[in-house]
Amino acid sequence: MSASNRICEQAPTFCEEDCETALFRAKWPDGFRCPRCGGPDFYRIGSRGPRLFECRSCARQTSLTAGTILEGTRTPLVKWFHALYLMQTGISAKLLSELIQVTYKTAWLINHKLRYAIQVHDEGRPLIGDLQLLGGLLCAACDEPSRGSADIPGRARRCRRFDRPG
Ligand SMILES: [Zn+2]
Repeated sequence: MSASNRICEQAPTFCEEDCETALFRAKWPDGFRCPRCGGPDFYRIGSRGPRLFECRSCARQTSLTAGTILEGTRTPLVKWFHALYLMQTGISAKLLSELIQVTYKTAWLINHKLRYAIQVHDEGRPLIGDLQLLGGLLCAACDEPSRGSADIPGRARRCRRFDRPG
């Protein structure tokens, strides 16, 4: 059995509501804030999907996914979260499409967007540990020990493009 299949079986079970709660907390860690007036109170707009909110002060509508890589997606959040979990193994779009049961095109897009988000997140953090210059990339070897089981490889290294001074 491949590492990806094993990791798929080990993925925690969660539902769409769990994902919405997690996304809500990530987007508004101190509670809802209206993007227009900063107001903290909102209505949920039921008729246009569970992820739409309306500010009680100024009636501005916003969604849970607005301004995130998930904006405009019609793929259930649970598949995005599952994909994020599976990406620990450096999964291909083809395998991802089989495991989370979406089209190859959707899997490719999810893979691409999640990699981009991880890259942006990583670029904001300093490289630590033993640094190596590999080609044009400055790489930190094993800067984060694997937190999964022994079967799940952790990210071996984190790399950043290195521009030679002058
Ligand atoms: Zn408002």
